[in-house]
Amino acid sequence: MNAACCFSALCLFAAVLLPAAAQATHGDGKLHIAVIDVAGGQSTLFVSPTGQSLLVDAGWPGNNYRDADRIVAAAKDLGVTRLNTVLITHYHTDHVGGVPQLVERIPVDKFIDHGTRYGKDPDPAVNYDNYMRVIASGKFQRSIVKAGDALPADGFEGTVIAAAGTVMQSSLPGQGAPNPLCAKAPAVLEDTSENGQSIALVLRFAGLTIVDGGDMTFDRERMLVCPGNKVGPVDLMIVSHHGVDWSSSPVWINSLAPRVAIMDNGSNKGGSTSVIDTIKASPRLEALYQLHPAPSVTYKNPGQTVQGGPEHNTPAEFIANGSGVDGKRVDVTVNPDGGLDIKSQGSGQTKHFVKQ
Ligand SMILES: [Zn+2]
Repeated sequence: MNAACCFSALCLFAAVLLPAAAQATHGDGKLHIAVIDVAGGQSTLFVSPTGQSLLVDAGWPGNNYRDADRIVAAAKDLGVTRLNTVLITHYHTDHVGGVPQLVERIPVDKFIDHGTRYGKDPDPAVNYDNYMRVIASGKFQRSIVKAGDALPADGFEGTVIAAAGTVMQSSLPGQGAPNPLCAKAPAVLEDTSENGQSIALVLRFAGLTIVDGGDMTFDRERMLVCPGNKVGPVDLMIVSHHGVDWSSSPVWINSLAPRVAIMDNGSNKGGSTSVIDTIKASPRLEALYQLHPAPSVTYKNPGQTVQGGPEHNTPAEFIANGSGVDGKRVDVTVNPDGGLDIKSQGSGQTKHFVKQ
């Protein structure tokens, strides 16, 4: 709005309305979550009831600022003009790779990460090195967290349940009971990639529990729920690792028993048949959302099992992007009474979930 404009009656009208519109989702007493499509990577934006922002992961590098621009668009829709905190779960390309482009597109105050990149990770270190250059610029605060820490993000009540290869020693309040599901979940080999170092976190608001496991895989999942279930039931789950089938073990899914799960799969990554089936069969599930249909052509990752199986997809109204479409989100509003309103940008429909 320019100064000359403000002397017109129309502009005075706009001056009254615009701030209210901008505050519609920014610090409105509700928790907002935008699960952004970054094509099989992760980027999830949380805006606290008091208006602070927390972005979990920055998507991929390259693609002419595609992921940074999608994050900025989500931030704008939620009334956010800067990112107070950006949490990097781990240093794989689809999570940390987008950081250099992101900081060119929107102000960032602070980064949270798990510390030094794991030396045994087989992937190139280039994206970690680029992130370290951003940190070395001295323009940003940095917090390194460990498992069990309170999440150091203003405006949010949360706990880091796993980080840098370890899981929290204690249980979340009221949890930790012996878990009968462990008898059918034998111990698995340690994940010696960066996935095993991933930060996993729990957020709490309005009596609800929300979990984001990053790209944690079977071994750390099991450590968190066996022999005692340290996490307990959750209301909303951001499905770990894009729905790839070496994460989201049955013991993890069934021990947390999410009421709503949102899977940040890409059109050709994640969305594994076994993961979709496990989530759909879990005991308290009310809805599974996917960012994309499961891959229509099955393929093998090196050394991994077949993915895909479109016949297993969640109903179309819960899939944000149809075949050949991308960039659409799943948006969640957590109301102070614990009710959830979830909108798939694909269908444009919003579904209400009453607090249980
Ligand atoms: Zn990933």
